Amino acid sequence: MAQRILDALRQPIFLQEHELVVTTSIGIALVPQDGRDPDTLLKNADRAMYAAKESGRNRFQFFDPSMASRLQERFALEAGMRRGLAHGAFHVHFQPQIDARTHIILGMEALLRWDDPEMGSISPTKFIPVAEETGLIVPLGEFVFHEALSFNKRLQAEGLPPIRVAVNLSSAQMLDPQLLEHIERCIILTGADPHYLEVEVTESVLLEGSGQALAALHRMKELGITLALDDFGTGYSSLSYLHQYPFDILKIDQSFVQALSHPSQGRNLATAIIAMGKSLGMELVAEGVEHLDQANFLLARGCHKAQGFLYGHPMSPEDFRAFYWERMGGEPVG
Ligand code: C2E
Ligand code: CA
Ligand code: CA
Repeated sequence: MAQRILDALRQPIFLQEHELVVTTSIGIALVPQDGRDPDTLLKNADRAMYAAKESGRNRFQFFDPSMASRLQERFALEAGMRRGLAHGAFHVHFQPQIDARTHIILGMEALLRWDDPEMGSISPTKFIPVAEETGLIVPLGEFVFHEALSFNKRLQAEGLPPIRVAVNLSSAQMLDPQLLEHIERCIILTGADPHYLEVEVTESVLLEGSGQALAALHRMKELGITLALDDFGTGYSSLSYLHQYPFDILKIDQSFVQALSHPSQGRNLATAIIAMGKSLGMELVAEGVEHLDQANFLLARGCHKAQGFLYGHPMSPEDFRAFYWERMGGEPVG
């Protein structure tokens, strides 16, 4: 029955000259195992529907009891994030991007960290999706921009060679009509030069946002911000995509870099991605470089900008500052 409903609703609808497609997600709760009263049944059917949406939409999903505990975990995360924002439990760490030939620092990526007094340290892969759903990503994103720009400004004021700082943007942020205003405000507040700011988005952002995301990217570009396509190769990018969007940098996804340690399978893909990026005139950054053999392979193919544990883990601002000074053969002052 559920499948028949999905099939029936999947038929395109023609509205004037537009062809519209509706996707459906169905959650199913059964009597008596999933509840004996209408309230419980509807609530559990609703949870099953969210699970159907999460696993890719356009499908049906039966309720199972583990969904209830997942929902509770989400609530705990949301409440924890609100507390954390008010009490300074969020921090931004910085991971260096280096020239694998000379080990000179070329840039850094800002990565959000959250240490909750009760739940401990929580991974951004876990809390960012909840922050997106609850809208908390907006104040969190503003916090990251502010921290990243002011830290970079401080390094420059100390006399270190200026580098760009890269900030990650999720789909919810790209669809926020006030995003550009926030960024511009942070630039003014910190006195940072937008030429030293880079923004990283993934391919999924482009698919979900389409027109709106493209407009936001163009406005950032006008401000002088550098644009990087993150996790490249994991989504559905085609060459036509790359042409359509104003990216300067392709970040080769970690999975391809890690596959370099298993010859045959991974090597051809990485080689092809590098060749493609180069022929399109893009700058390339390899992510997740952990071993020397990976770095050497990338170098031999002409990709010399690298980021990964081999060169430096994400660090607190203080540690990054010391790391940078040490590379420059000096001592931080103050
Ligand atoms: P990402 O943008 O792809 O960031 C790279 C991730 O790879 C980071 O994980 C980093 O710690 C990790 N990494 C770096 N080098 C290596 C390596 O050599 N080996 C391995 N195995 N991992 C490495 P992290 O910090 O846990 O962040 C996970 C994801 O969370 C990020 O993936 C990004 O999508 C998201 N994220 C982090 N901070 C922010 C933020 O401020 N805003 C938004 N919207 N998303 C963020
Ligand atoms: Ca990134
Ligand atoms: Ca990435």
